Amino acid sequence: MPGVRISVIGTGYLGATHAAALSGWGHDVVGIDVDPSRVTQLAAGIAPFHEPGFDELLLEGVRAGRLTFSTDLSAAVDADVHFLCVGTPQSGTGHGADLTALWQAVDALAPHLRRGALVVGKSTVPVGTAARVQERLEDLVPPRHGVEVAWNPEFLREAHAVEDSLHPDRLVLGVASDAAETRLREVYAPVLRDGIPAVRTDLQTAELAKASANVMLASRISLVNMLAEVCEAADADIERLTEILGLDARIGPRYLSPGIGFGGGCLPKDLRAFASRATELGVDSASELLGAVDAVNTHQRQRAVDLTVRLLDGHPHGRNVAVLGAAFKADSDDLRDSPALAVAGAVSQLGACVRVFDPQAGRHLRDRVDLEVHDSIESACAAAEATLVLTEWPQFAEVDPVALGRVVERRVIVDGRLVLDPTRWARAGWRVHAFGRGETT
Ligand code: NAD
Repeated sequence: MPGVRISVIGTGYLGATHAAALSGWGHDVVGIDVDPSRVTQLAAGIAPFHEPGFDELLLEGVRAGRLTFSTDLSAAVDADVHFLCVGTPQSGTGHGADLTALWQAVDALAPHLRRGALVVGKSTVPVGTAARVQERLEDLVPPRHGVEVAWNPEFLREAHAVEDSLHPDRLVLGVASDAAETRLREVYAPVLRDGIPAVRTDLQTAELAKASANVMLASRISLVNMLAEVCEAADADIERLTEILGLDARIGPRYLSPGIGFGGGCLPKDLRAFASRATELGVDSASELLGAVDAVNTHQRQRAVDLTVRLLDGHPHGRNVAVLGAAFKADSDDLRDSPALAVAGAVSQLGACVRVFDPQAGRHLRDRVDLEVHDSIESACAAAEATLVLTEWPQFAEVDPVALGRVVERRVIVDGRLVLDPTRWARAGWRVHAFGRGETT
């Protein structure tokens, strides 16, 4: 079967990965972005971000001639399916989503739509947006063109974006017609052949599916972090507790790790956008519940800062603090709303000399005047009076505590992600403070 001609509008973490996956399935794909440097990089087969497996997939598509990139939407004129993958960040003035990029993309795309084209939203948007996109296109495109809107939210996780795109848990096909479903099934034929479940639903349920998944995940993390704080206060063991909870088939073991909280370009802003939209719809319970989830999450960052100050005997000014990890999660270089970076910045604001090492995100921090960026763990930790592990990079768990103990000024470490073996570190003479576990000496 010949591939489908597709455009992907917005080539950030989501769009670039989606475009590369689509081309890997044999479709002809053009990726469109307003950022010329991003387009130049991608067109040359160079990944603009760190994402395992992405470089290879991108290069394969570009070399095969099935994946091209442009800043000009007229390059999308031959496509029958257009995926909207632009950013939907938190608005600068409130908790709702800023849909400026989405409307710009829709308006710019309209003149290039062929007869019968399908416009598929993939960005995470407030419920009701798809219907507005359909209305907008009906205003801009003659009705005889029969242009239709569908919503097909994306559930990929950064750091696993390629794997999740190629082998998703499920597909959500938010459609208003059988023809739109058929077209989407054609696009996803290779995934559907693997037996991945595809749920057909209406546009608004599809929009809600993604936002609701993030709301549930965020709530679960804050719930676990609250339990961790109670464990510390009651001298209980959060790791045994979460093991016990995870063995309950109704709860399950995943997403039960305590730490300095969630961040990144999705969970925090999706949580707030969901609550804001629910309030608009007259549902007040959402902001009550999710406001607490958000507050518990932010509180974890403050807890890490307070703990650091306490470990520096209340005098952070002029003290050397090593921060291991800046990205919001391991195997990513994404710094958007990163808890690690927020803690590093807050400790620096208190006058400490903060030295950061991150295997991938460090290069994006060079213009931060408040942080010293280092190229190795040892260099960041030289003469440190407190060391903070704030991103769960696997190499941090493998550090030799004896060797690092010779580099630092004081063997004091905060494990904000529960990646260290406390007994091993304590045996090497370190005071280990872990979230939910308290101090091990
Ligand atoms: P991003 O900021 O990495 O990428 C957005 C891209 O859109 C940028 O490259 C930007 O230049 C481009 N853009 C902005 N306006 C444009 C326009 N008018 N035309 C063409 N391109 C334009 O964002 P992201 O992380 O890829 O997220 C995109 C959407 O996907 C968001 O709604 C997000 O919530 C959702 N999402 C993200 C992830 C993720 O893990 N990052 C997962 C699922 C869903």
